[in-house]
Amino acid sequence: MKPLTITIDGPAGSGKTTVSKLLADRLGYRYIDTGALYRAVALEAKSAGLAPDDDGGLKELCGRMRVQFVQGSHGLRLLSNGTDLTDSIRTPEISLLASAVSARPVVRQYLLDIQRDMGRQGGAVFEGRDMGTVVFPDADVKFFLDASAKVRVLRRYDEMASTSSQSCAEVERDMKLRDKNDSTRELAPLMPARDAIRIDSSDLTIDQVVQLMLRHVDVA
Ligand code: C5P
Repeated sequence: MKPLTITIDGPAGSGKTTVSKLLADRLGYRYIDTGALYRAVALEAKSAGLAPDDDGGLKELCGRMRVQFVQGSHGLRLLSNGTDLTDSIRTPEISLLASAVSARPVVRQYLLDIQRDMGRQGGAVFEGRDMGTVVFPDADVKFFLDASAKVRVLRRYDEMASTSSQSCAEVERDMKLRDKNDSTRELAPLMPARDAIRIDSSDLTIDQVVQLMLRHVDVA
């Protein structure tokens, strides 16, 4: 079977990350977390003291950023100009900053080229918000994964519990803000591609979602 390009889009807490990694593992494909790329830009912007709407500053920043995923002994690592950012990009602050910088055309254009480059040889599962709509409109299989707001908040809260002291109410507040920013921005808003297979994971186990996806991949 030819190596496929598979896209999985959806909001935070929909289960994308867990499911995308497992699906990639099952298929022997690369897993590409495109949210991490936006988080890297956000972290570098913060370190450089840039406001998230400083387009001139962001353009200059992106121009000198070299981001790459490398396989380390502790799993996949994200490097920016050789520095490992993996452990610093998952904070609540960087989540909101990533959402803010991701609305800027200069950042999206910079990452569009990088993501397409990563997808050139196929055999990859791309996780994000606009994978099926903008980055890979001709992807072989597109999924849009969603879940009820309540389930998403609880999942996100559990996921963050070991690294953040945010209460469930704070997680919910941030998630609502991010959902609103990501789905109402002008460029590449979060939405299902017209030909995406929609899956609501609210009442499904991780394994059930992966099995469902594998059935669609098998017939692609
Ligand atoms: O998926 P993750 O929560 O790590 O993404 C962080 C932020 O990056 C999202 O809230 C969204 O604003 C942005 N993003 C995006 N397009 C993608 C992936 C992530 O705009 N393909």
